[in-house]
Amino acid sequence: KFGQGNLLELLKTHLPAATWQLLTTAACQAQARGWHLYLVGGAVRDLWLRHSQGAKKHQNITFQDIDLVVDGFHTKADVGAGVELAQALQGDYPGARLSVHGEFQTAALLWHKDPQLDSLWVDIATARTEFYPYPAANPEVEASSIRQDLYRRDFTINALSIRLTNPSPGKLLDFFGGMNDLHNQQVRVLHANSFIEDPTRIYRAVRFVVRLGFDLEPQTETYIRYAIASGVYERWRLTEHPTPALTTRLKAELSIILKAPYWKGALTLLADLDALKCLHPELKLTEQLWWQVRCLSRWLRWLDPERQLEHWLLRLGILLGALPPQERIKIATGLQLPKTMIDGLANLETMETAIAKSLGCQQCPGPSVIYQTLKGYDRANLFLVAARGHKVLRKQIWFYFSQLCQVSPFLTGHDLKALGYKPGPQFKQILTDLLNACLDGQLGDRQQEEAWLNAHYPLPKKV
Ligand code: ATP
Repeated sequence: KFGQGNLLELLKTHLPAATWQLLTTAACQAQARGWHLYLVGGAVRDLWLRHSQGAKKHQNITFQDIDLVVDGFHTKADVGAGVELAQALQGDYPGARLSVHGEFQTAALLWHKDPQLDSLWVDIATARTEFYPYPAANPEVEASSIRQDLYRRDFTINALSIRLTNPSPGKLLDFFGGMNDLHNQQVRVLHANSFIEDPTRIYRAVRFVVRLGFDLEPQTETYIRYAIASGVYERWRLTEHPTPALTTRLKAELSIILKAPYWKGALTLLADLDALKCLHPELKLTEQLWWQVRCLSRWLRWLDPERQLEHWLLRLGILLGALPPQERIKIATGLQLPKTMIDGLANLETMETAIAKSLGCQQCPGPSVIYQTLKGYDRANLFLVAARGHKVLRKQIWFYFSQLCQVSPFLTGHDLKALGYKPGPQFKQILTDLLNACLDGQLGDRQQEEAWLNAHYPLPKKV
């Protein structure tokens, strides 16, 4: 049974061979220094999932993100143990890039498209305790034991650990009932204040519930609802100092959720928990907004299969679009969204009015009118306008993307020159008129285009 006995064999079976070798080397290096080394976090949880539910069901688990914790002798001098171990490992693996996060004394070793290790990210930290000087602040850090290190984590299922060094290598450390929760498929928080200390954990809880198909443990749900009702997001918004770091983390969680294949389930659970308040106190997933997000996503699937646009950003954009312009700009700026997105959100209504004026004043605008009206707008912004717009407008934008954007005349500027037209300002006019005629279905081949040119822009007769 998982957890009873030595888990090293299981690790060897499920990890890629080169990653397993790397862990063995890391354990030797740690042991040589008299330290303990632990595999912690998601990798242990994922090992259990692969082992108990089968690799087939969990093909997406690739163990490319490994967290290690070094437990030293609990003195200040050992705060740097994680960094020292990472440096020693880099000596064994010169292909790795080392990055040190000074403030928290953590190190990361990164491989990118390595022939053996592929893309791998290994975080190495010294066991630590975090203190939150006040709610939603950035934690302050101190060296500690592995037990305390695990206690600072988010959920019991993420607070499991496997010892890699002597004594008892391969031993599972489960101080908080993580195995029980894995068996019962529950996401349970470690302590009552957890969501007040760090509201991004609410998003993480939702992510794990939906991704793993687990339940939110009832007491944990109560803590989440309590944290939200107590205004944790308001405090966060109003606190000057910690806002940037926390906002970055919130944005990271939002992007993971909105990028994931399970985004629909996650968004509805977030809405059900009232957690969209983290973006704005008034933001609610109404029927209409829910419809718009799904409509937008359908469109993106059909019209942008190559994913040239950032689909998650547009989903966020349509959510923010439900807020008054001033508010949405404030949030988009705070989240440091790209400038085109911020501008698009600021000008949504102006854009909608201008398009409606241009297309709505005609009984049934022809293809060239639709094309010329829409072509000046940013593609991403047009997706937002479409999802928010009425049926007729949506049809017109669909027509524009799916057909009109693909139309181009046979004749190009080079052909005009070859036919004897002099390059100059008139060129642009000729090409626009030619394209309009093509869009309106008047021309079907090169011959027809040349005849059209002769009729509409005859060349002066040579004397
Ligand atoms: P994933 O498979 O999505 O990467 P993960 O569990 O590895 O899941 P990470 O975001 O890589 O998640 O974080 C690694 C570990 O760090 C987690 O397992 C958890 O123990 C801890 N952790 C991450 N974020 C937090 C947080 N906000 N609060 C407490 N612990 C956290």
